[in-house]
Amino acid sequence: MPGFELFGDSERKEVQDVLDNGVLMRYGFDAMRNGHWKAKALESELQNTFKVNHAQLVSSGTAAVSVALASAGVGAGDEVIMPTFTFVASFEAILMLGAIPVLVDIDDTLTLDPKAVEAAITDKTKAVMVVQMCGSMGSMDELKSICKKHNLHLVEDACQAIGGTYKNKPLGSIGDLGCFSFDFVKTITCGEGGAVITNNKQYYTHADHYSDHGHDHAGSDRGAETHPFMGYNFRISELHAAVGLAQIKRLPEFLGIQKKNFNIIREALSGIPEVTFRTVPEGGEENYGFLNFYLPDLETARTVSKEFKSEGIDACFHYFDNNWHYVRKWQHLTEQKSLYPLSPQIEEGLKTLKGKEFPVSDHYIARNLSCLIKLSWTADEVKSRAAKMAKIIKETV
Ligand SMILES: *Cc1c(COP(=O)(O)O)cnc(C)c1O
Repeated sequence: MPGFELFGDSERKEVQDVLDNGVLMRYGFDAMRNGHWKAKALESELQNTFKVNHAQLVSSGTAAVSVALASAGVGAGDEVIMPTFTFVASFEAILMLGAIPVLVDIDDTLTLDPKAVEAAITDKTKAVMVVQMCGSMGSMDELKSICKKHNLHLVEDACQAIGGTYKNKPLGSIGDLGCFSFDFVKTITCGEGGAVITNNKQYYTHADHYSDHGHDHAGSDRGAETHPFMGYNFRISELHAAVGLAQIKRLPEFLGIQKKNFNIIREALSGIPEVTFRTVPEGGEENYGFLNFYLPDLETARTVSKEFKSEGIDACFHYFDNNWHYVRKWQHLTEQKSLYPLSPQIEEGLKTLKGKEFPVSDHYIARNLSCLIKLSWTADEVKSRAAKMAKIIKETV
């Protein structure tokens, strides 16, 4: 992570194809295209790579989550269970549909605690959103069986874990719908972009139409198409898709580099008794985009994080003090700071969040450091970085 570190000739060639024929839109203009359909080609690469029947590209990962929920019929007044530790996009995508985000604790997988999920289910719950944070995953078998038992949709936000697997299944393909982001800092980037994947044909058809103003995409005259239901514009452009098409073919190469770099750093830290690693559920394999570990307490984590920064160890995040990824700093959500009136259902639903504490989530996030694994490091850079990190931690604990 991130894929832009290794941009090269293949990205340039795909973009040049689009510029050469001049069709920047993914739909229509058949005669002008010279056979180039970058978005369609990327969708078929996604289907093959993630072993699913359908993929729908959209304009961002946040859009992907909204489109996935909408495609499954989640909307006004419905509750969607999500973790306290995730990017703000998770609740944004839920609120956009008029649905209510219900925040629940994480466990040491760094995503949904299945027991907390089950305890939060009400007669308004429609979906559970597991966010595969920092390259790894939740306890998917448990979450799946809870969803089955209570007849809920399982939506997988795999934006940070593309290429990871659970029991040999690609992350994103395990829930009813899976979401990816191809924003500029993700493992595979389009600049901006996202995708919904699913094996459910009806959800796919919904996603296809909904993300393009409700267009049914039948025939070859866009103006004559019909609109079976209302939609929105979450289209990706051909230019963005072209970059992603080059990048997705390089996923195995990127994952290989991440794994190698990850293991060097993990090895260096594993001899320190005070360091423990995040739990990866049995049968799971991370995408190695981040190395996550726990220190004994908040104070140690804060000191190590500060020392890392001053010693040039960049991109190691202490999410407890971060504005964007943990509920503790989401005052704009908990205090309902909206530009426009929120629905009475959302106002009521969010009331319970005001002043609410999450001591179990704090227990994990306070002690966790999450270090980005870069693709562009040389072998020497990784080794000296790993040694420096180990030294700082040993001197602090
Ligand atoms: C990046 C990210 C998103 C949102 O993706 P964008 O393409 O930036 O909108 C959603 N969820 C998670 C977990 C992310 O990391």
